Amino acid sequence: MKGYMLIGGERIFKDKEIEILFPYDNSVVGTIPDGDEEDARRAVDAAIKGFERMKELTAYDRYSILSKAARILSNRSYEIAELLTKEVGKTIKESMGEVGRAVNTLTLSAEEAKRIAGEEVNFDAAPGIRGKVGFYRRVPLGVIGCITPFNFPLNLTCHKVGPALAAGNSVVIKPSENTSLVTIKLAEILIEAGFPPEAVNVITGYGEKVGDALVRDERVRMITFTGSVETGKIIMSRGGLKKYAMELGSNAGVYVDKDQSVRLDFVSEKICRGGFALAGQVCISVQRVFVHDYLFDDFINRAVEFTKTLKIGNPLEETTDMGSVIDVQAADRIMEWIEEAVSAGAKIVCGGKRLSDTVIEPTIVINVPEDVRLFTGEVFGPVIVVNRVKSVDEAIEKVNLSRYGLQAGIFTNDLRAAFKFSKEVEAGGIMVNEIPTFRVDQMPYGGVKESGIGREGPLFAIEEMTEIKTICFDINF
Ligand code: NAD
Repeated sequence: MKGYMLIGGERIFKDKEIEILFPYDNSVVGTIPDGDEEDARRAVDAAIKGFERMKELTAYDRYSILSKAARILSNRSYEIAELLTKEVGKTIKESMGEVGRAVNTLTLSAEEAKRIAGEEVNFDAAPGIRGKVGFYRRVPLGVIGCITPFNFPLNLTCHKVGPALAAGNSVVIKPSENTSLVTIKLAEILIEAGFPPEAVNVITGYGEKVGDALVRDERVRMITFTGSVETGKIIMSRGGLKKYAMELGSNAGVYVDKDQSVRLDFVSEKICRGGFALAGQVCISVQRVFVHDYLFDDFINRAVEFTKTLKIGNPLEETTDMGSVIDVQAADRIMEWIEEAVSAGAKIVCGGKRLSDTVIEPTIVINVPEDVRLFTGEVFGPVIVVNRVKSVDEAIEKVNLSRYGLQAGIFTNDLRAAFKFSKEVEAGGIMVNEIPTFRVDQMPYGGVKESGIGREGPLFAIEEMTEIKTICFDINF
């Protein structure tokens, strides 16, 4: 597919292009224009007009258009899923799952469009005030810049664009240069469903160039960003006075308590699935597992046994369980981190080999020192670290030994341990008897510490994407 930018409904091609590759075998999937500062400026010009046109739509109109977009997306599920697999390298099963979730995210955004409201303000509750009535309402911000990562180019874009449009804003989307084609299709679906073409713009190219220009544009009222901590920090230092929502990285921890023996098959399988889904490239992938000493060896045996049943290979084949990572550089980095851990004393008990430029075996590493990058960083690859602990207190301490705090999990039958863990672990979400990778699209979702600022989930994103306007009437005369 020859990709293009969408600015004010017009398809913009450029001579200078970036190739999009199928990560599994590096074959060319398509191209996108290498956008620049001028493209970002034109897209914001269009979005300003788009914001004016959005004001003509009622809440019911925005609900209807988003619902229609969800239906169109649903009808084109397989075509979109295939493109997702080719751009991201995730399996076709995973891509179909992402399309289903994106349909749901748009539907949830549509529903929320009907519920955006303020409430009455009691002005006369202040001393000496009489005869004043009024209310506050939530109004859209204007132009919102949406910058998205490579791993969920469809659903994560819906998490930004759905609530933004539901609330009456216009958007300029800057997708990842690795995975922009699906996002262009999504924008076209939103316009086909009925949004003004000027309200849904897509600019493509490198983050440091076209993305940075979008961030620096003073007319953009908010940047909603999902990506790495490093990029998030650069964006906040470059963007100046505007609102920011930051959905950043993590190295999620999960604890398996000593009372889990009877369901260890279930728990170990769940944890491995949470580590190896999308080849570990999920912001809430299970990365650090802490298992009670009492059942550590049993846990490892079962986890290894399950992991060996996973079918690794071409993500376009229906039976494949795990595909490739996004590119050669990512695979190089992941292998380097594994080697670093092993030289520091960790032990590989499963996997550990590179099967091709971009395919790494699902890998389980035990006894990992706490100062190596496999423990301290975000591996974003198919690697699970499993270490022993002796109590829930020690597990809490180890889970918190991280600069990140997106989600965490605990498997236990002990109500007190569950409450203690959920109270003391520093994370945006705690999953009890569930893996940290659990997310449904309506729940409040986001991180603490370096995992981010703000919450997504359409209801919560709409709060971030609107501001309060207070209206007061004097009825004394
Ligand atoms: P990334 O930070 O490299 O890039 C994300 C986006 O930012 C891309 O579109 C990129 O082009 C753009 N960008 C890069 N530099 C920029 C700049 N200077 N100015 C403006 N834009 C710029 O992230 P990635 O490798 O695509 O995605 C992986 C990361 O995303 C991981 O850290 C992962 O945890 C995180 N992530 C977080 C969540 C969440 O909800 N918290 C979800 C998915 C992914």
